[in-house]
Amino acid sequence: STTVPNIDGSLNNTEEDDDEEDVVDLAANSLLNKLIRQSLIESSHRVEVLQKDPSSPLYSVKTFEELRLKEELLKGIYAMGFNRPSKIQEMALPMMLAHPPQNLIAQSQSGTGKTAAFVLAMLSRVNVLELFPQCLCLAPTYELALQTGRVVERMGKFCVDVEVMYAIRGNRIPRGTEVTKQIIIGTPGTVLDWCFKRKLIDLTKIRVFVLDEADVMIDTQGFSDQSIRIQRALPSDCQMLLFSATFEDSVWQFAERIIPDPNVIKLRKEELTLNNIRQYYVLCENRKDKYQALCNIYGGITIGQAIIFCQTRRNAKWLTVEMMQDGHQVSLLSGELTVEQRASIIQRFRDGKEKVLITTNVCARGIDVKQVTIVVNFDLPVNQAEEPDYETYLHRIGRTGRFGKKGLAFNMIEVDKLPLLMKIQDHFNSSIKQLDPEDMDEIE
Ligand code: ADP
Repeated sequence: STTVPNIDGSLNNTEEDDDEEDVVDLAANSLLNKLIRQSLIESSHRVEVLQKDPSSPLYSVKTFEELRLKEELLKGIYAMGFNRPSKIQEMALPMMLAHPPQNLIAQSQSGTGKTAAFVLAMLSRVNVLELFPQCLCLAPTYELALQTGRVVERMGKFCVDVEVMYAIRGNRIPRGTEVTKQIIIGTPGTVLDWCFKRKLIDLTKIRVFVLDEADVMIDTQGFSDQSIRIQRALPSDCQMLLFSATFEDSVWQFAERIIPDPNVIKLRKEELTLNNIRQYYVLCENRKDKYQALCNIYGGITIGQAIIFCQTRRNAKWLTVEMMQDGHQVSLLSGELTVEQRASIIQRFRDGKEKVLITTNVCARGIDVKQVTIVVNFDLPVNQAEEPDYETYLHRIGRTGRFGKKGLAFNMIEVDKLPLLMKIQDHFNSSIKQLDPEDMDEIE
């Protein structure tokens, strides 16, 4: 279902699921991140490496030249604007390009250069003279497969005879067709079908097997088993690579089942902190009252850009309409929009076309809009048991200690929700000051 604001800003309110909270869809979030990402994510942590054979020397590279890549591949990398390997690539690339090939499990947050790394590995291992699938990459969704394919196409721009094919539902291959493309990217179900039922891919000829977004993958029913069935049919000298943005136990267990004798590379995530954030709350009677408080705050401070969080789509819509009617230029980002629509809204916001973004929890994680210095919790994040959702609070407001600028956070609190706020304060051991919305001088 999609409800898109009309040109005049009004909303067609026809949805029954307005009271819904937007559930965080891992695959959608991951795609969104890719669509809005413009550059590498920095990290202050060191890359941790666990070698399969601890006695073998550990190589890292500071330049792409050191990798002795094919000329046309190096050209492709530079054409993408890459000057030097990212932190994770410094360690991962020598392992991935080693002879004999080594298996690898790598974990680092999205935006750190994993995709570019395995695309490079696939491209470097393709033999253009052989016209059959040689590299196989599994992705959790059609859209994510396409994104990876685009990277192959960009990086392989000068590798003229290398071609990509998508094993995704809807890509119908006529009976009797021979697949001559060297790189196949697809979702587990369709790949399985192409390999075993339709015999379009001969798995015994695959040299590089990539399992991307393992954490998203295991979140989808059936994908782990299908991936393992595919992996079991690969030759023993096939290089196997697995990537994940997170590394809960379940991901780790899956990774160990599917990647034999791996090297492991991890880059810890930059932690979020509330240290640089001044937090306030305003006590309110009801929703109208909260809105009034918001308006007072709005005028009282010279606002840069702000994100306002609501707990339900209904509230987010209501607030959007109210603010528009009061002449504020705001945009609404909620889960009923397609990922492409969300990406374009975030882009407009980033470009400063709108100063205020109203959203539900879809936006709480992973989307960093650097210039945002003000966050408003129009509703406190709570879980199903009506307890505070600390994680989400941190994700909405927190910033990474090293790169984050100072920020301001406002919580609009109905009186009966005050105990929840106090719990949040205790949980994070950080003070949230009460604010009289009539007196904005209190804000330093
Ligand atoms: P991940 O797969 O970890 O999410 P990507 O490989 O998609 O990360 O890289 C994130 C962004 O950084 C992309 O826009 C990509 O083009 C860019 N990028 C990747 N490697 C480099 C590099 N070595 N130098 C500059 N930019 C890079």
